Parts: sequence; C-alpha cells; structure tokens
Amino acid sequence: MAKKIKKAPGWLGLSEDRTSFVYIPERAEIVRQIFELSIAGLGGYTIAKLLNSKKVPAFGTSKRWDQSTIHNMLSSRATIGEYQRKQTIEGKEHPVGYPEPGYYPPVIQESLFQAAQEARQRNLAIGRGRKGRLITNLFAGLTTCAYCNSPVKFHSNGNSKSLICEAVLERDECFKFGWSYGDFERSFFEFLDENRALPDFSEQLVNLRIGIEERAHGDIYNARAEIMRIVKASVLRLTIASAGMPPPSSRLGGPIRRNHPKRSFTATFNDDSSRTGYLALPQKRSNQKFDSVELSKSLRLSPRQGTLTALLAEGETLSFAAEKLGLTLATARWHLREIFKKTDTHSQVELIRLAEATCSPK
Ligand SMILES: [Zn+2]
Repeated sequence: MAKKIKKAPGWLGLSEDRTSFVYIPERAEIVRQIFELSIAGLGGYTIAKLLNSKKVPAFGTSKRWDQSTIHNMLSSRATIGEYQRKQTIEGKEHPVGYPEPGYYPPVIQESLFQAAQEARQRNLAIGRGRKGRLITNLFAGLTTCAYCNSPVKFHSNGNSKSLICEAVLERDECFKFGWSYGDFERSFFEFLDENRALPDFSEQLVNLRIGIEERAHGDIYNARAEIMRIVKASVLRLTIASAGMPPPSSRLGGPIRRNHPKRSFTATFNDDSSRTGYLALPQKRSNQKFDSVELSKSLRLSPRQGTLTALLAEGETLSFAAEKLGLTLATARWHLREIFKKTDTHSQVELIRLAEATCSPK
C-alpha cells in the first residue's frame, strides 16, 4: 500500500486517499504570478498587499496573504518539484540528505525560479524598504530589438534611463540608438489605451494618473504593479525599433543617440495579433489651459464636448478626461467620434492642432 502523505505545499492538493499530490491549475497560476511580480522588483510585503486587495484567497487556513508566506514560497524549491528532507535542530531547520527532484508536480519552470532568486538578491543588495521603490522598468524581459533580435535592456546612466539594444551595449554592434525610458513608457501606455487592447488597462491608467496628481506614492505603486501584471499577462513580445522601420541606412559610430523621431514598437499579444505603436503626443502641458466655452462655441460642440476637447488639448489621455467628466470610457469615445465628425478631424492629434489654432491656450 502506498504511503500516506501528511502534508502538501499550499499550492498543491492531496488525493482523497492521501497517497498522491494533486495539481491545481488556478493555484499554480497564482504562484507563477507571485514569481513574476518578484522578478519585476516587488517585495513580499507589496505582493501580499496586492493579492489581498484583489481578494485572491490565500492557500492556507488564513484567508489573507502575508509577507512571510510570500517569502517562503519564493525561496521554496518545492515550486519546481524538489523535495528536501529537513531536520529541526535547536529550533532551526537543516537540510538532511540530497534533494529529490520530481517529488512534487512542479508549478513553475526552473528558469522562472532562478530569475526570481537573482531578482531577490539584487533587491536585497539595493536595500529596498518594505514599501518598495516605484517599479523602474515595467517591461523587463519583454523587449527585443527589431533589427537584430537581441534583448533590449534597461540602461541607467546617472539621471538618464533608456531602453537600448544589448548588442549596442555589450558588443558595440547593431544601430546605436536608444529610447528614453519615460518617453517609451508613456508612448506604450497611450498606445494600449487608444487601441483598447487590454480591458483592465485603461482603468489602471486612470488610477495611476490620479495617484500622480495627488502625489500618493502607494497608489502610484499599486497602479504600476497592476499595469505591469496586466502587460506581462497579455503581451508576449515587445519589439523596439529605436530608429524606426526600416532601420537607418548606415551604422553610425560615436555616442548612442536617443529618441529618433521615427522610433516605433510592435506589440505581439497572447492571441498572436500584433500592432505597431509610435511616439505619443507631447507630454501633458499642465501650464496651458484651454477655454472650453470658447472651444465649444467656435467648433459648434456641446459644452461637454468642448470640455473634452479642452482636456485633450491640454495633454490628457482620453481615459483620464473621461474620469474627470464622470463618463465611462465608451461614452467618452462616442463623444470623441462625434467631435471628429463635427470638426472634420480624424485623429486626436488633428483635433488638438485645430483646438490650438482655434483658441490660443491661456
Ligand atoms: Zn539590436
């Protein structure tokens, strides 16, 4: 008769006769997400907070996640199927004998486990506090170079943070162009928002904008963590053409140039569809205000449409403008289409140029 198992790791179940482990796909998925969040630089405290706020049930008897459960999971080789017998001596656990691979059904791949160990070492070295830094690169592991297929890396040089092809950084090959990180992130956010590619994304983008406006560190952090999770779960690949497509005709020497006017990226989604995005509209010009009454009069728009146009001209995204006007994003889009019809414009950029020409910002 098979031996009875006393206890399974939280993410696994036990068969009714308690002789074998049962793989639970939903729990395995949660484990995988926890590893990915850790790799992205989130600490155990923040991961626990995030899971609790999303009402993800914890595996144990407690309904809530806590920091130590997350830490134990992230360092447990049982996630990759390994069993290590342990003995408690003077209150401390010590490994006994060799680890047994393939003892448990693995819930994550070994490469993911390794990446998480490396990320945790790095984070410890940086000495991050329990609140955590703002996540610096939301696209870690996703970006590749459109010209040579090498990974595109996050490169920090003093205050300048850029995405640069690994071949440029390490071997002085490929095309010597980079894309400023903030500029890329903003372009990509607006691209996703515009394309309605990811359902939950626009909502989180609004949370992020509100967090920034109110200078609420915790809200910014949570929104960024959520955005990263959504992007990681939905985008397979992000190909970056730092100098546009097709690539420049010659390979220039000298320093790495940043922010080529033709820069673009192509996102490939889980369903294998892909779309290309370009440089976003100029960043929010908070000091410029447009008179919505004047705009609605001269462009023959309803007062609400005038306000929407003014907000867009001031550099707000459509989702943020919708939030400010108390509209759903779908309604705001409907208004925007109406505005395009009434003003004979065909894009937000065109509309903004028209608004600028119509009334000078105050
Ligand atoms: Zn390259």
